[in-house]
Amino acid sequence: MNDSNCLFCKIAEGEIKADVIHESDSVLAFRDINPQAPTHVLIIPRQHIATINDLQDKDAGIIGSLFAAARDIAKAEGVHTDGYRVTMNCNKAAGQTVFHLHLHLLGGRNFAWPPG
Ligand code: 5GP
Ligand code: ZN
Repeated sequence: MNDSNCLFCKIAEGEIKADVIHESDSVLAFRDINPQAPTHVLIIPRQHIATINDLQDKDAGIIGSLFAAARDIAKAEGVHTDGYRVTMNCNKAAGQTVFHLHLHLLGGRNFAWPPG
């Protein structure tokens, strides 16, 4: 189920420390080590899924849980009214560097569109 070489699996298992701010049976959220906004939280499934390309139809519930966590964390961080961005990068061209599915939740500043 989990990948012993995966950084985010190690964080999910408590083997590597992170500033965890939200936990449930299926997801975990922690602050990004190199924040790109005043609020920058990574929301991950506990289950190892490398990229969006690896998602199966049966994983729909996990994806729902990632977004439900984003909604709750945005409110807890106080960025829900002004607005925030959620991003999931897939593979090299999009800038994915950690191959365990994660939703970036960014808030606390204005964001440009289109993204760089
Ligand atoms: P990606 O580029 O794959 O979409 O996002 C990976 C994110 O993970 C980056 O924003 C990076 O700063 C963050 N990151 C990488 N290593 C660690 C770590 O050890 N701890 C935490 N909290 N974040 C990390
Ligand atoms: Zn993993």
